[in-house]
Amino acid sequence: MSWAYAVVVFTYGIVVGSFLNVCIYRLPLAKSIIHPRSGCPRCGQPLAWYDNIPLLSWLWLRGRCRHCRQPIAVLYPLVELTAGLLALQVVHQFGLTIISGWIVLFGFALLVLTVIDFYHYILPDVITLPGIVLGVVVAGLPVSGPPLPPLEASLIGAVAGGGGLWLFAWLFEKMTGKVGMGMGDIKLLAMIGAWLGWQSLPLTLFCAGLVGSVVGVIWIVVSGRDRSQPIPFGPYLATGAWVYLFYGPEIYRWYLS
Ligand SMILES: [Zn+2]
Repeated sequence: MSWAYAVVVFTYGIVVGSFLNVCIYRLPLAKSIIHPRSGCPRCGQPLAWYDNIPLLSWLWLRGRCRHCRQPIAVLYPLVELTAGLLALQVVHQFGLTIISGWIVLFGFALLVLTVIDFYHYILPDVITLPGIVLGVVVAGLPVSGPPLPPLEASLIGAVAGGGGLWLFAWLFEKMTGKVGMGMGDIKLLAMIGAWLGWQSLPLTLFCAGLVGSVVGVIWIVVSGRDRSQPIPFGPYLATGAWVYLFYGPEIYRWYLS
């Protein structure tokens, strides 16, 4: 990929990232993501266009609102940067193709879900349910192909991902009397199965469990967090799916040899 392409792809990523911030901020509050225009979350002052430039405005304003001088969360530029790097990573790996466009879209959805689940312990249906349908639709389009699955694998993935995790959650609840998994996680795994095919499910779950336990232990040690508090599982499922997308075939080959 030439430098010019890389700059265009990264810029596209951070511009969309700026919109993803709006989704992350407003979806859990059940507010419209279109109206009104973006404003300072503290004082409500609408943002001028020059204060709404991804990454740069935050750096230029040194992380403070121009009007009320209150700090603007570092999360905003971080999401923009992540979206930019995510788009670059996909195009670098899979080329500047329509398929990469679908994968970037899937990645953006995972990013929004990850941040919302991390802060609010919810995975909004307005993303996961259309996400499941779109994953299956994309798999059936003529302009799809590897690393995205064929239609059958996508359909089986959606059913096995959602149904399998639902069954696991149901058994877990029967045996322990505790609620271990939310419906949001079940819909997210159905969405991952739809986008990446049923083959992605074992590694996604394994990876999510592994990363989740490690982060969970560190979290408890560092913050002295109460063990009985819920742990958002969405971020780890999203991480597992992303690992599968880029390294899945290699990991399976290594495991089988
Ligand atoms: Zn302000």
